[in-house]
Amino acid sequence: MEEQKTVVEQAKEELEKRFSRTLAVAASNLCVHCGLCVDQCHYFVATRDPNISPVAKAEQVRRVVKGEHDWLRRIFPWWTGAKELTEEDLDKWVEAAFRNCSMCQRCVVNCPLGVDTPLVLATARGVLTAVGKAPEILVQLADAAIAREENLEFFKDFYLEQIKELEAELQKKVGDPEARIPVGVEGARFLYVPLSGAHTIMPAAEIFYHAGESWTLSMFEAANYGIFLNDPVRSKRITERIIREAERLKVQEIIITECGHAYAVSRWEAPKWFKDQPWNFRVRSILEVMDEYIQTGRIQVDKSRNPFSVTYHDSCNLGRNSGLFDEPRRILAACVEDFREMTPNRERNYCCGGGGGLVAIPEWQDIRLEAGKPKADQIRATGAEAVVASCDNCRHQLGEINEHYGLNVRVMGMAELVANAIVPNNGKK
Ligand code: SF4
Ligand code: SF4
Repeated sequence: MEEQKTVVEQAKEELEKRFSRTLAVAASNLCVHCGLCVDQCHYFVATRDPNISPVAKAEQVRRVVKGEHDWLRRIFPWWTGAKELTEEDLDKWVEAAFRNCSMCQRCVVNCPLGVDTPLVLATARGVLTAVGKAPEILVQLADAAIAREENLEFFKDFYLEQIKELEAELQKKVGDPEARIPVGVEGARFLYVPLSGAHTIMPAAEIFYHAGESWTLSMFEAANYGIFLNDPVRSKRITERIIREAERLKVQEIIITECGHAYAVSRWEAPKWFKDQPWNFRVRSILEVMDEYIQTGRIQVDKSRNPFSVTYHDSCNLGRNSGLFDEPRRILAACVEDFREMTPNRERNYCCGGGGGLVAIPEWQDIRLEAGKPKADQIRATGAEAVVASCDNCRHQLGEINEHYGLNVRVMGMAELVANAIVPNNGKK
């Protein structure tokens, strides 16, 4: 009988599978330990703990990668810093890669050599997932999304009933008994992919109504917890449900709701996973759609309908990771009277502390709130009455830091803000 592999052996095998040119570079001696990334990480800024600086976290994994791949280690292990992987290392990786890194990419933008620290830590996440050491809740959430597809009939009636209730609310809101929230409509122009929760459907439905858009929902939501686990099998499977629906319904575009990681997965990762099966549709964020509607006059907005001061939080996945910086600012310029930038912003913005799946892990709430302090300070300094974030994860975290640090601001989504500002036209185009 074949002998069971130890956790360390399994981890080494997984690390080997994931070894690539980009990891080789990120885990090489490219990092000169200059320390410039240290105070760029919100964890360090909040705690002043050097052990949770980007370089210190990455070094834990880098030493093991060098132990496997740097030939110099055989002669000068002390010089390369290489070390053999142990189970204790893996337990420390859970802290470094899952608990103490939100994968925000701010350290990369501020490293003069472009060392990809989050790639090193994401590799550790993938290894930990493969050996069963990833946070259980992330695994459960990813598996629940897959189970939904496998048990679609079970969910269908309940979901359609909920959508009917929302549709009635929409009709009341826009004063039109013909207003619809369509599900599974073949030939619609957009497949809009929300998250679970009416707050990601209602403002979008109202905006689509006023734009006279041809759109539909499917049975699936956008969240992809597989990506937080760096588990390509689960992530691909979760995204594939949406891709297949888009193909079945013959839509022209997939529009992702206000969710940073879901957009980044669908826009940047999925095309790599499905490169052998080219699509006939494109993927956009609802941010891009709202911006287009306003710029082209397809919806009319009146900024006096949002008469309070507003600041904007650049979600790491939409901003630094996807370059959506101008779209939200054009929308804000059209929809609010008093917009106040937080400092720093755009690619230098601080993570709210909730990215990388952390908002879903209650046992790490303390460090998550502590790491959210730089964001709380940024918001407070603007003096704004509301903070807008175009990502549900960020909004969840902002809601918690609002309470924790007594900011007394209103936390809003961009679609909610746009829906507030719309000048009704009863859906007539
Ligand atoms: S990751 Fe870049 S900024 Fe950080 S210590 Fe290494 S070289 Fe310096
Ligand atoms: S990716 Fe963000 S959270 Fe992770 S080490 Fe870099 S700056 Fe810190």
